Amino acid sequence: MPLLPLYGHTVLRTRFDDAIRRDALPGSLLLHGPLGVGKQRLALWLGQRLLCSGSDPKPCGTCQHCRYALAGTHPDLHWFFPRPRPKDSDASPAKIADDFREAIGERTKTGVYAPPAPEEGIYISTVRAMVQSASMAPAIAERKVYVLGDAERMVLREGAEEAAGPFLKLLEEPSAKTTLILTTSEPGALIPTIRSRLLAVRVAPLGSADVDAVLAEPAMQAAIAEAGGPKKLDEQRRVANGAPGALVAGGEWADAIARARRMLDAASNGDRREQARTALLQGSAKARGAFSTSLDALTTLLHESIRASTERGNERGATAAAKALDVVEAAKFRATGNVNPQLITSELLRQLERLIA
Ligand SMILES: [Zn+2]
Repeated sequence: MPLLPLYGHTVLRTRFDDAIRRDALPGSLLLHGPLGVGKQRLALWLGQRLLCSGSDPKPCGTCQHCRYALAGTHPDLHWFFPRPRPKDSDASPAKIADDFREAIGERTKTGVYAPPAPEEGIYISTVRAMVQSASMAPAIAERKVYVLGDAERMVLREGAEEAAGPFLKLLEEPSAKTTLILTTSEPGALIPTIRSRLLAVRVAPLGSADVDAVLAEPAMQAAIAEAGGPKKLDEQRRVANGAPGALVAGGEWADAIARARRMLDAASNGDRREQARTALLQGSAKARGAFSTSLDALTTLLHESIRASTERGNERGATAAAKALDVVEAAKFRATGNVNPQLITSELLRQLERLIA
């Protein structure tokens, strides 16, 4: 079974296509946007576009490169993402390649997959395997493409300097025949030395027709059911809020919604003590990486509130929630920088209190 078809993202696809035609696509890109919006799928599409040898419009979908890319088996389209910590921290690149072949096979079984579990990461042996592979010539195509999903999960800590250096160098100056595409829903959690070496591209939520197309995929419905997601299409559309992959996130997304609800409650009750507690929660080591997802969940809840207020004819409530959305968007922007999540949250809650309390 191949990857799920790519729906939507037409503005970005056109932009990438133009850049490739002008030979102006940067060698290192960062796709960032909400959890479940399809960033890795879009990155794999871009990889397919770069490798396709068919006729225009590219990717043709039928040449050998396209077929391998769609099956997840192209030897020059490398896909890395968080995995369980290897038992052997010195696992050889060949062993890592085997592990990913299996993991990609798992992901392409139905084309739908849940985000990695919290304990999974991009460990040093994976980074080392990637750097080593990038030093070799392409196997069958003109060039090589690396997709690194959930890149904020990269673990470059103690004892990792010998691998971190070559990786940073690779990001900074990939060879003319190599393209690196990192993706993240938490750009603020990326190591600054990595972020500064990438051209950041925001992946916007999908429009409703594209969300419906994704939801119409049988594999998608099967995965939503398995994750215990909403059964009714209306409810699925609401929770997806332009990022249908969030519906299969199960626990991670449900937790983010719970955190967002707590923020909204603390703001609307005007309870300063609870606000301070909620802000502190965002700063704990465990919650740090999930902060952007909490803000995305907040956006989903506010959209729901606008809809509910409008249905009840509560114009004031709808206007307040719409203004609150702007405030959350501003917080998201700050979260992509180096500002402390606790600080962002405490200011955000005070602003929300003024609007919705
Ligand atoms: Zn092709």
